[in-house]
Amino acid sequence: MFATSHEGLKPFSLTTHSEIGSSSCSYVKVQGDKSPYDGNLIYWSSRLGEHPEMPKRKALLLKKQKGKCAWCGLHFLNNDVLEVDHIIPRIIGGKNEYINLQILHKHCHDEKTTSDDSLKSRKTMREKTTSDDSLKSRKTMRLHIE
Ligand SMILES: [Zn+2]
Repeated sequence: MFATSHEGLKPFSLTTHSEIGSSSCSYVKVQGDKSPYDGNLIYWSSRLGEHPEMPKRKALLLKKQKGKCAWCGLHFLNNDVLEVDHIIPRIIGGKNEYINLQILHKHCHDEKTTSDDSLKSRKTMREKTTSDDSLKSRKTMRLHIE
């Protein structure tokens, strides 16, 4: 009753409102595109052999190993630290080629490296404290989970 002079005003404002509603819908849809990968870095890398947050080489190796550690045989978890290992150590002639690479847990890699070291020099078993120190100083490749 109060808007008798401009009847056309109300329908116009309603149209504007519904347009805002639909555009916010499509905005939500775009955001949703990110979600399939969330929290499943290892899973998707192992399945697809690629992942935007995983180096290609690692993702391919994960796929080849079906997401399992080549040393202990357990599935990798998203919080695990993954390291690329040379199956045949370079020190004894292993090549830096895809076929000579595998992915291990960091702690499994350390175990293997220790046994690799014993191949190089069988003189003495390393003291545990010594290897602990080298663990701290050694740089590790970490997964980028955002
Ligand atoms: Zn392992």
